[in-house]
Amino acid sequence: MAEPGSPPPVDLAFTREGGRDGTIAEPTFSGAMSFMRRRYTKSLDGADVAVVGIPFDLATTGRPGARYGPRAVRTGSAMIAWDAVWGWPFDPFDRLSVIDHGDIVVPYGTPRDVVGAIEKAFAPIHRAGVASLMLGGDHFCSYPVLRSLRASVGEPLALIHFDAHSDTWPGREHEIDHGTMFWHAVREGIIDPARSIQLGIRTNNADTLGLTVLTGDDVDAMPAEIIADAVRKVVGDRPAYLTFDIDCLDPAFAPGTGTPVPGGLSTGKALRILRSLARLDIRSADVVEVAPAYDHSDVTALAAATIALNCIALMAGRAG
Ligand code: MN
Ligand code: MN
Repeated sequence: MAEPGSPPPVDLAFTREGGRDGTIAEPTFSGAMSFMRRRYTKSLDGADVAVVGIPFDLATTGRPGARYGPRAVRTGSAMIAWDAVWGWPFDPFDRLSVIDHGDIVVPYGTPRDVVGAIEKAFAPIHRAGVASLMLGGDHFCSYPVLRSLRASVGEPLALIHFDAHSDTWPGREHEIDHGTMFWHAVREGIIDPARSIQLGIRTNNADTLGLTVLTGDDVDAMPAEIIADAVRKVVGDRPAYLTFDIDCLDPAFAPGTGTPVPGGLSTGKALRILRSLARLDIRSADVVEVAPAYDHSDVTALAAATIALNCIALMAGRAG
C-alpha cells in the first residue's frame, strides 16, 4: 500500500513486479488497461493463469462487434480492480499469479486459418500447465481454445456452458459459426456430453447431444446452490472448461452483445451460481460475445469483467 499522502500507484500493468502479489488499488480512471491491472507480459514464467484476448467476430450470425470485446472487458475491469473480489474468503491474486498475456490477432482475411492460428497460440500456454482465461471475441473462439486444452489434458473435457443458445446446432465441415462449434466439439471427442451442462438456454434445439440442459426458466426457478449441486453432479471430477457467453444474461443486464435473447439471468444470479461452484476441477475458462457498440454505461463490460474475475476466484479456490 502507498504511504498516506503519497501518490497512488499508476500503470500497474507495467509497473508491478507480478507473481502472487494480491490486489493493489490503482485509480479506476487512469492507467494502462490490462485485465484487473495484472502485469502485461508475453512471458509465461511463473504464471498460473494467462488472460488472453481474441478480438475476432467473423463467426457471428447476428450483430457483429465482439472483436472490441477484449478491450472493453479490460477497461471495465478497471472499475473493480481496486478492491479484492466480493464474496470470496480470500484474494485470488494472493493464491495465483495471473498475467495479462495480451491479444491474439487472427488472420481475418483467411477464415480457414483461424482455428489453427488460435490453437497454435494457446498450445504453449496449456502445455506449460498454465490456465487460460480467454476474453472473446465471438463464441466460436472457444472451439480452438478447447482443442488446445483437450490436447494437453489428454481426455475429453466437461463443459460448463452459460448461454442463451445451445451452440450445438448441426454444422458443416470446417465452418466458422458461433452456433455450431460445440456440435463439432462433441463429435470430435473434445468435450464429453455426459459430463457437460448448459445453463440459461432459451432457444430451440431438439437434439441436446446428451448434454444436460437447465433452461433460462429452470435457472430462474432454482436457487443458486441447487443449480451448483446439479452442475457438480454432472461434471463430477472431470477436468472442466467453463465458458460464459454474456448473452446468457438478460438483455437488461447485458445489452452489449450480438444476439440478445430476453428471459435470461440477472448478473447477481449468475455471480451467485459461480460463487457456489467451488471445488470443481476448472482448468480454463472464457467470457465471450461482449460487443461494446451496443452497450450502455459499460454495464455489459462490467458484468463480463466481474464474471471473468469470479472465474479466476474459482480456479484459486482449488489452489488454496
Ligand atoms: Mn454462445
Ligand atoms: Mn449466445
